[in-house]
Amino acid sequence: MIIGAGGVGRVVTHKCAQVPEVFSDIWLASRTESKCNRIANEVGSDRVKTAQVDADKVADLVGLVRKIEPEVVINVALPYQDLSIMDACLETGIDYLDTANYEPPDEAKFEYKWQWAYHDRFKEAGIMALLGSGFDPGVTNVYTAYAWKHHFDRIDTVDILDCNAGDHGYPFATNFNPEINIREVTANGRYYEHGQWLETRAMELSRVFDFPEIGPRKMYLLYHEEMESLTKHIPGIRRMRFWMTFGDSYLKHLEVIRNIGLDAIEPIEFQGHRIVPLQFLEALLPDPASLGPRTKGKTNIGCIIKGEKDGKPVSRYIYNVSDHEQCYRETYAQAVSYTTGVPAMIGAKMILGGQWRQPGVWNMEQLDPDPFMDDLNRYGLPWHDIECDIEVDDLPTT
Ligand code: NDP
Repeated sequence: MIIGAGGVGRVVTHKCAQVPEVFSDIWLASRTESKCNRIANEVGSDRVKTAQVDADKVADLVGLVRKIEPEVVINVALPYQDLSIMDACLETGIDYLDTANYEPPDEAKFEYKWQWAYHDRFKEAGIMALLGSGFDPGVTNVYTAYAWKHHFDRIDTVDILDCNAGDHGYPFATNFNPEINIREVTANGRYYEHGQWLETRAMELSRVFDFPEIGPRKMYLLYHEEMESLTKHIPGIRRMRFWMTFGDSYLKHLEVIRNIGLDAIEPIEFQGHRIVPLQFLEALLPDPASLGPRTKGKTNIGCIIKGEKDGKPVSRYIYNVSDHEQCYRETYAQAVSYTTGVPAMIGAKMILGGQWRQPGVWNMEQLDPDPFMDDLNRYGLPWHDIECDIEVDDLPTT
């Protein structure tokens, strides 16, 4: 049972439908059932059944889960729904998977602590929650676990590099949910070094990196959620950073949005109504799902990992390149949704097939990376694993 009929939900549904030997019955439920129906029609052959649900309401979710009796719930609604869906899974004894960690609606603060707190209850109930089974978090965690298993005795540093070189032709639009996206990139930067979290101003640190199959792009240091779990689960790691590319037009618009307060999440009074400025902005911006047919170009997301094996220094770069137009041809969604939806399908496959299934709440790097890495190659996200002598600190800043 998939919850959320946005860009990612579309890809998960298409990809699950391609693997009938694992996903024999597929339900897609979301707030707006017509969006589910549109996706079900794309897939065709009555493979996908649909339902309406408000995933903020545990009782409604429990009712639907009891009716459908799924083996796993794939949550690709918004991070705000993570806890209510986990509660419903606990009550019904069903495995759970998501792609983004919980974020309280009234505070721009995402952390794993709320979901990690479910570990004992999930374990006692004999059910599993797999957290962050998208690309980043998700595949980046699995790349790091794979490197640790096969290339390193000790990992010293990880730099995660996320480049979206897609062009949708709009002066400003976000590639996934605008509210989540803008909250993420306007937050202060943060990275991990020598056991501490160091803070930067938003977009304060940047480097120019020559991304394979894309070319040089300017990337900015951001805080990203997989760093919280990776620094906890990869022992001895000295430094971890996350970098994301942004184009000049995107940054110019973002600066204006911030300067005039349109990114605010506190409600304001406007002509007798209480409105949240960021939600108002979201209503004005293009729907991310509409960007698919317009977007050209590629994404490249990967990890540069340095450390030691048998007393010798080792440096690897593991990455995937995806093409927006190719993703759209296959699933009617652009590469940002595709690169998130494919790992969500694979994570569910790992649970259903038993390779990863164990009671409790788990992050991706805590499980054997090999079967997941094999499936990435099989289901549309092939990866490269190369030696790499690049020092991110030595890269130019302009
Ligand atoms: P969208 O905004 O396109 O889709 C979200 C969907 O969830 C919509 O269909 C929406 O319904 C539905 N929804 C929202 N609230 C509820 C609710 N209360 N009850 C039922 N359904 C609800 O987002 P995306 O598809 O782009 O992203 C989905 C998830 O994937 C997000 O959590 C995002 O953070 C995560 N993500 C993770 C990435 C990764 O690499 N790990 C990368 C990109 C995204 P409606 O249509 O009615 O609005």
